[in-house]
Amino acid sequence: MQVRFLATVIYCSLAAGAFTTFGTSPVRCAETTAPEAANTNAAERAEVVLTEHARQLHAASLVVDGHNDMPWEIRKQASSSFEKMDISQPQPTLQTDIPRLRQGGVGAQFWSVWVPVDLGYRGEALATTLEQIELVKRMMARYPDTFELALTADDIERVHRSGKIASLIGVEGGHCIEESLSALEKLHTLGARYMTLTHTDSLNWADSGTDEARSNGLAPFGQQVVRKMNELGMMVDLSHVSAKTMHDTLDISTAPVIFSHSSSFAVCQHPRNVPDDVLTRLKKLDGVVMLNFYSGYVVPSAARITIESSLVKREFKKRYDDPLRVEQEMKRWQAKHKFPRGSIHDLLDHVDQIAKIAGPEQIGLGSDFDGVELLPKQLEDVGCYPFITQGLIDRGYSDEEIKGMLGGNLLRVMRKVESRAVKK
Ligand SMILES: [Zn+2]
Repeated sequence: MQVRFLATVIYCSLAAGAFTTFGTSPVRCAETTAPEAANTNAAERAEVVLTEHARQLHAASLVVDGHNDMPWEIRKQASSSFEKMDISQPQPTLQTDIPRLRQGGVGAQFWSVWVPVDLGYRGEALATTLEQIELVKRMMARYPDTFELALTADDIERVHRSGKIASLIGVEGGHCIEESLSALEKLHTLGARYMTLTHTDSLNWADSGTDEARSNGLAPFGQQVVRKMNELGMMVDLSHVSAKTMHDTLDISTAPVIFSHSSSFAVCQHPRNVPDDVLTRLKKLDGVVMLNFYSGYVVPSAARITIESSLVKREFKKRYDDPLRVEQEMKRWQAKHKFPRGSIHDLLDHVDQIAKIAGPEQIGLGSDFDGVELLPKQLEDVGCYPFITQGLIDRGYSDEEIKGMLGGNLLRVMRKVESRAVKK
């Protein structure tokens, strides 16, 4: 497996000689990272220039984004208060606010109610996730002319027609259910319409792409989780999971699956990107890869540093029992290990690869805005989406294919998931 191979070659050394690896057969990195990474050719490609065709096509499309982490940033930067951080006004410390959502022509947004995996080890993940769902609902209540909750694909279209941004809830990481199927049901009842099976850490029942394997893919409880989600009509999200977990899930899921924020492994070899053999299966089973914009997952030369960075963070966490100290050490490390941000063309390279293997019908958008620090040029914030439409036109995709990639493909998959739910 390519991913297994990758896992064995990213074995990297840390300052004090401590070593760690995702894989089982350690091989040391041949080199350390350069303090200032050189610009890639990709970063030098010409800027995308908006045409009238792109503006009109964009305005006529329903743009759906699969993953935005603003809720956690509101919690972190503004103590969960929209009074302290009024997103109807420009917010320079965020990648998201209402003026830029409007500028980007966003029609529907899945708001991530992510909570850190560490809370799972302390038994606080579920309670904190419930607080984050509450926060998203307060946002809708605070800005009723802008946002409205959507629970179905029909809702998305209805809310969009009314001129508002359809707002959906996505749970990121199975640690949130604390190994309880009734917790999963509760999250669905409260409005969550997808759950990412893992975040950065492997669970007892599903392996992450960025941790050692603990459950050999999807363990029996993981299979129960997938079946329960199929039954509820809740989308199974395979972003973050290991390739083995992806395959195990595709073996048993009775409904199409999504990747709410992932890109192509063939283009950028980060273990949380989607390998071609999974894309081939996704085409057969129908599913959608909603592309992550993060430079560390889309720019090929950035992936290795990103991988090393998460290994280093894991080591710092073991070494220092203080989240603040870990953050400080990471900042120091990152300052010495910069990587290129790339440009919108790097993202479009992922589109081409996935279209080649699976077809444009299996592609969507899942920015990861406000969950990542470095973004490619012309993809800096939620105002960027029209550039993607233009970039897709420039690469020769038809208007229909582009409408699908902007949101239509997700709507089709979501409807299929809904139709396969067990009616009560
Ligand atoms: Zn994520």
